Amino acid sequence: MNERKLPFLILILPVLSLLLSMFLFILVYTVQQRKIVKDNMKYIENLYVKNAINIEKNKIKAAFNIMRNDYQHINDRVKPKLKERVGIAYRIIMNIYKNNKDIPKNRLINIIKQAICPIRFDNGEGYFFIFNMKGVNILLPPDKELEGKNLLNAKDASGEYIIKKAIKIAETKHKGFVEWYWNKPVNYKITKESRPYKKIGYIRYIRPLDWFIGTGIYVKSELYRMEKRFISLFEKEKEKNREYFMVLRPIGKKRAKILANSNRPYVKGSVIDGRFMDVNGHSYMNKVFGFLNKGKKEGTIGYSYKDNAGFHKEIIFFIFYKKLELLVIYGFNLDNVEFIVKEAEKRYKAAFRKYRADALFLSISIILIVGVLFLFIARRVNMVFFEYKKEVEEKEEKLEKLAMYDSLTGIYNRNKFNEILRYETNMSKRYKTPLSLIMFDLDHFKKVNDKYGHDTGDKVLKMIAQTVLNNIRLTDTFARWGGEEFFLILPKTDIDKAKNIAEVLRAKIENADFKEIGKITCSFGVVSLKENENEQELVKRADEAMYLAKKNGRNRVEVL
Ligand code: GH3
Ligand code: MG
Ligand code: MG
Repeated sequence: MNERKLPFLILILPVLSLLLSMFLFILVYTVQQRKIVKDNMKYIENLYVKNAINIEKNKIKAAFNIMRNDYQHINDRVKPKLKERVGIAYRIIMNIYKNNKDIPKNRLINIIKQAICPIRFDNGEGYFFIFNMKGVNILLPPDKELEGKNLLNAKDASGEYIIKKAIKIAETKHKGFVEWYWNKPVNYKITKESRPYKKIGYIRYIRPLDWFIGTGIYVKSELYRMEKRFISLFEKEKEKNREYFMVLRPIGKKRAKILANSNRPYVKGSVIDGRFMDVNGHSYMNKVFGFLNKGKKEGTIGYSYKDNAGFHKEIIFFIFYKKLELLVIYGFNLDNVEFIVKEAEKRYKAAFRKYRADALFLSISIILIVGVLFLFIARRVNMVFFEYKKEVEEKEEKLEKLAMYDSLTGIYNRNKFNEILRYETNMSKRYKTPLSLIMFDLDHFKKVNDKYGHDTGDKVLKMIAQTVLNNIRLTDTFARWGGEEFFLILPKTDIDKAKNIAEVLRAKIENADFKEIGKITCSFGVVSLKENENEQELVKRADEAMYLAKKNGRNRVEVL
C-alpha cells in the first residue's frame, strides 16, 4: 500500500461508513414510516367505517325501540278504544230496548240487529257480534249464515272454546277483555293465505236480553299502523344521496316483501329474493338471507365498485327484528372515508418528511464534524508518519554510507572499490580506453602504532587519505583496501600517466608534515588493465607491484 494513501483512508473511511450508515438509517426509517402510515390509515378507515355504521345502526335501533315501545303499550292504546265502542253499542241497544218494551221479541231483535249490524270501524274490519248466554249467535256481520246457530263449541285458531270463554266472563264479571286467535281474512274471505293472528276483544253482558255484545281487533292491524310510522322515520333518509334503505318483511327463507325503499328501481310491495340487485348492480340479498337463515340478527357486507367517477366503497348492513318480522337494510357510500384518510395521510407524510429532514440535517452535521475531526487527525498522522519516514530514510542513508564508505578515513571501502573497479573494467573493455590501478601500503606502520599508539596510527591514516584526496582528479576512485593499504582507480589513464600520479603522491606523502611522528612514506605498485585480464587478476598484479616496491627498498613506485 502506498503510504500516501494512509491519511486519505483515515479521513475517508469514517466519513464513508457514516454516509453508508446514514443512508441505511434513512432507508430503514423510510420503510418503517411507510408501514406506520399504512397501518394508521387502515386504523382510521376502520374507525370511521365502524363509527358510520354505529351511527346508522343506532338510528335504526332507535326507530325499532320506538316501535317496540308502541307494541308493548298496544293494549293500553287498543283497550280503551274497544271499551268505548262496546259502551256505545250497549247504550244504543238499551235505548232501543227501553223505547220498545211492548213490541214482540222477534221484532225487537230485528230492530237491534239493523241498528248494530252496519256499524264498522278500522277500515271496515271492525264489527260488533252478539250471542245469547247459551252460545247461540244473534249477530255476526261477516258470517250472516251463522246467525241463529249455536256456536258454543266453536274453537278459535289456537283450539280454545272461545264462546264458552266469553260466556264465562259475561256471567261472572258482566264485562271484560278476552283474547283469541283468528285466521285473518284476505279481502274479507278466509283463504289459504289466511294466517292466525291474535285478536283482542271486549264483551259486555246485556242483562234484560240475557245476551252479550262484543267487538275485537286484530293486534296486527294496530301493528301495521305502527309500521307505517316506523317507515315514515326512514322516508326522511331518502333525501341523503349517499345512503339508501329498505324496510322488508321476510317471507319464508328466500324471499322478502319491500315495505319501504329508497332503492329506486324497486317499488313498495314488490317481492324480492336472493337475485335482487341494488342500483349499482350488487347482489347482497343472498348474503343477507344466508345470515338470517343462520340465525344472525345483524351483519355487515362491504363491497367496492368502479364507475365513471372512480372507485367507491359501500357498506351494507342489516338488522332483523324477529318479533316484528322486520328487516331493515341500510347501505351507504364511503367516499367520505377516502377523503378523510387521504387528508390524514397527507398530514402523516408531512410530519414524516420533517422528521426525515431533521435526521438528514443531524446526520450531515455529524458527518461534517467527524470529517473535520478526522481531517485534523489525518494531518497529524501525516506529520507523524513523515517525520518517522524521514528518520528511517536518514538511518537508511547512514547504513548505505556504512556499506560504501570506510568509517575511519571517509573514503570508499573495499566493497565499493570492488564495485567501481568492476564497472570501470567493463567500461574500459567496451570503449577500449586505458584503465590504471595504483596500490600503496604504509611503510613500517607497525612501528608507528607501537611507538605512538593505535589512536595516533588512525590519525596518520586519516591524514594520508586526506593528502591523497587533495591530489587526485574527481574521476579517480580512492578506496581503503583494508588496514593501511589503499587503492586508486584511474579511468582513461595509461600506465605512464598513472606512474606519474603515483610518483606525485609518493612525494606529497613523503614531504607531508606528520608533526611529532615525523616522516611517513608509502610504497606504490602501478598496473594497467591488459586484454583478457579480469579485475581480480588486475588487483593481484597491483599487489605484486607494491610488494616489489617494498622489496626494492620502500618509498618508491614500481610498475608491472
Ligand atoms: P611494511 O608494510 O613496510 O612491510 O611494514 P609494516 O609495519 O607496515 O607491516 P604490515 O604492513 O605487515 O603491518 C601493518 C600494520 O598496520 C599492522 C597494524 O598494526 C597496522 N594497522 C593496520 N590497520 C590499522 C588501523 O586501522 N589503525 C592503526 N592504527 N594501525 C593499523
Ligand atoms: Mg600492509
Ligand atoms: Mg605497511
